[in-house]
Amino acid sequence: MPKLIPVPNELTKPYWDAVNSRKLLIQYCSDCQKLQYPINPSCYHCSQATSLGWKEVEGKGEIIAAIVIEDGRLNRRMPDQPYNLAVISLDEDPTINFYSNLPGTEPYKAPIGAKVSVTFEEVSPDQLIPEWTVDIKEV
Ligand SMILES: [Zn+2]
Repeated sequence: MPKLIPVPNELTKPYWDAVNSRKLLIQYCSDCQKLQYPINPSCYHCSQATSLGWKEVEGKGEIIAAIVIEDGRLNRRMPDQPYNLAVISLDEDPTINFYSNLPGTEPYKAPIGAKVSVTFEEVSPDQLIPEWTVDIKEV
């Protein structure tokens, strides 16, 4: 499925470098001891920039909402319609959300409440992006 290729900048480069190593890094404020995402130059809670670092997270989460894109306007995604767009909450901090197309899950079949794990998809020869897949339940 063609996806937008991220263009890392100085701020987001550690995140994308980690993704390319199949790791998920989240910004972490050592003052507030809070994780934050999306990536921001300063802490959402205390506005400090100097206390921000990075923390590797396990990459586990849960689907809290999902819709299906049937008539989106993003040209390069039109051939894929309909496709899932799910909101994932991160286990380490459920206030942190990621969007996912849930590769491997049929449109309209996104199981709300299901556990998901991060995976990494190649969008160009030297760039991976994080995606989320539903955990297989043990029978
Ligand atoms: Zn802070």
